[in-house]
Amino acid sequence: MPAVSSPEAVASAVHAPLREATFLQDKFGRAITDLRLSVTDRCNYKCVYCRTGNDGEQYAELALDEYLRLARVFVSLGIAKLRLTGGEPLLRKDLVEMVRELAKLRTPTGEKLDIALTTNGHLLAELAQPLKDAGLNRITVSMDACDAATFARITRVPGSYERVLAGVRAAQAAGLAPVKVNAVLLRGFNDDQIERFAEFSRHENVIVRFIEFMPLEEDRVWTPEIVVPMREILERLGNIRPVVALPPNAASETARRYTFDDGIGEIGIIAPVSLPFCGHCSRIRLTSDGKIRTCLFSQMDHDLYGVMRRGGSDEELAAFIRKVVDQKEARHHIGEPGFQKPSRSMVHIGG
Ligand code: SAM
Repeated sequence: MPAVSSPEAVASAVHAPLREATFLQDKFGRAITDLRLSVTDRCNYKCVYCRTGNDGEQYAELALDEYLRLARVFVSLGIAKLRLTGGEPLLRKDLVEMVRELAKLRTPTGEKLDIALTTNGHLLAELAQPLKDAGLNRITVSMDACDAATFARITRVPGSYERVLAGVRAAQAAGLAPVKVNAVLLRGFNDDQIERFAEFSRHENVIVRFIEFMPLEEDRVWTPEIVVPMREILERLGNIRPVVALPPNAASETARRYTFDDGIGEIGIIAPVSLPFCGHCSRIRLTSDGKIRTCLFSQMDHDLYGVMRRGGSDEELAAFIRKVVDQKEARHHIGEPGFQKPSRSMVHIGG
């Protein structure tokens, strides 16, 4: 005779398969909780390590209600962190409204989303406060030099340094502190900026994060020699003052965190080339034309928008997302023999 179950056990049994089915996990057991949403692949900068000097091709952009519907389905599957990116997300006219609507979504356990934005900062001075008011939680500003001349050489836009600096300060003032500042280091181009960035972190109270250059550019300029590896960055920082490691904020954190012996300043190093973190990757990406990418270095996209365009229900969208997540690659193969560049460059993926 079967044992008589308590009401709690029955409830748990009824809900267990649902719970299991609710959250996204790939075949390697990695929980997928972070979605990078590219809201446009247009950009007002032409950074030398990312783009050619030309305007280039542009992919389609989903409408606001299409993004919101897809975001709602992703969130119902356990996505808890959304990062809006591009292209340059601040070029999108309805961005503040998008953030306001996304901030209304709740995870299956009833929590608010963690909504972050990555921007080049060019338009940030005017938009920082409206974005904060709309519900933006965190911001990362890309800034690849701490002096105006080097900066303009990288972005290929005169006057860009002053604008980005104003944007960083406006974001701090709007309550988006601590602002993270991302710098991609290229040997022979801006690797002389490491010490200046350390000073910048200490004086401006921002978290500076150095990112190793990855082969994701439009022009084919990447070589292993151009990458400034984590080991070298740490050595250089150590010449300023003794460097002290900080604990990670989360298991899936991509940056190794450091401060100095006086506790002033914070430097992160993101080292996908010399110290890959694929084993605890929690991310997937949606491109501005509605394709899912399971890895920056994927050789193919998965057309989620196509499912929606053909009239797919939320359940069909969710089933498609699950199937795609299951195909997430184990890791990237940067620097290995036979490495193939991804099918899209960074600006068309969403970094
Ligand atoms: N326009 C926004 C910005 O500038 O932050 C968002 C998009 S941008 C593609 C996102 C980030 O990717 C930036 O911090 C940029 O420096 C970084 N990035 C672009 N190409 C890269 C590459 N080949 N390797 C490493 N990081 C790269």
